[in-house]
Amino acid sequence: MQPLRPRIGLLLVAAFSAATALLGQTRDCAAQDWVDGKVAGPFVCRAEFSLAGSENLLRELIQIQVDVIRYLGLPAANEQIEVYLFRDKRSYSGYIEKHLPKVPYRRALFIKGQGPGRVYAYQSRELAVDLRHECTHALLHAVLPVVPLWLDEGLAEYFEVPADQRAFGNPHLAPLRWNLRLGAKPKLTDLESKGGLSEMGGTEYRYAWAWVHFMLHGPPEAHQELVQFLAALQARTPPGLLSQRLNHRLSDAEQRLVAHFKGWKR
Ligand SMILES: [Zn+2]
Repeated sequence: MQPLRPRIGLLLVAAFSAATALLGQTRDCAAQDWVDGKVAGPFVCRAEFSLAGSENLLRELIQIQVDVIRYLGLPAANEQIEVYLFRDKRSYSGYIEKHLPKVPYRRALFIKGQGPGRVYAYQSRELAVDLRHECTHALLHAVLPVVPLWLDEGLAEYFEVPADQRAFGNPHLAPLRWNLRLGAKPKLTDLESKGGLSEMGGTEYRYAWAWVHFMLHGPPEAHQELVQFLAALQARTPPGLLSQRLNHRLSDAEQRLVAHFKGWKR
């Protein structure tokens, strides 16, 4: 991926080195009633199918944890995250209907109550995208008491593609460029006003991703503001609105976002 601004990266090196040493590689674990079980970093995966061919994907999940530490300045998850993988949609739907009847159906799920976070997904062509997306939510919620909905989804959309596609290969990039060419100006205050997933459509997901991309690959001050905002959340200090913090640091952050994508070339 496009390297992040080294100046910011240096600030996070100490926390990054300490935490990544703990992550390790994948190893087997008790499958219990499941066909296979593996531990990958904080993720304890159990599957209805053999995980023998899934090592690369599990290593990608470990790498997302490394990158969350490195780019967002957050600590490593200090609790296990349970991942349940089903052989097909039918088996997944049956399990969700039985055990989580009140949860609206989605292709993959992240659930967090009092205990460890849990990710549910099933084997399909989208499994890798689904796992990277839901496991990003799980890593954030393992260390933050609350995450604003738009930022939660924006980060999950950012990390759901393979690492080498994050900067230039995300499917949101081309339609976003069209939106901007037609004069759209993604407003962060609009995203901040969304109270539930039912208010988040395709445009909202794309714009949430765009703000995350801007803060990770755009002006260093925007990245710093994101890191400080997340640190405040982690410290349970009221962080205020990120839109206000960004405008305070950058003056007209929306215009800077538009300029960021206009100039975003390999
Ligand atoms: Zn999501």
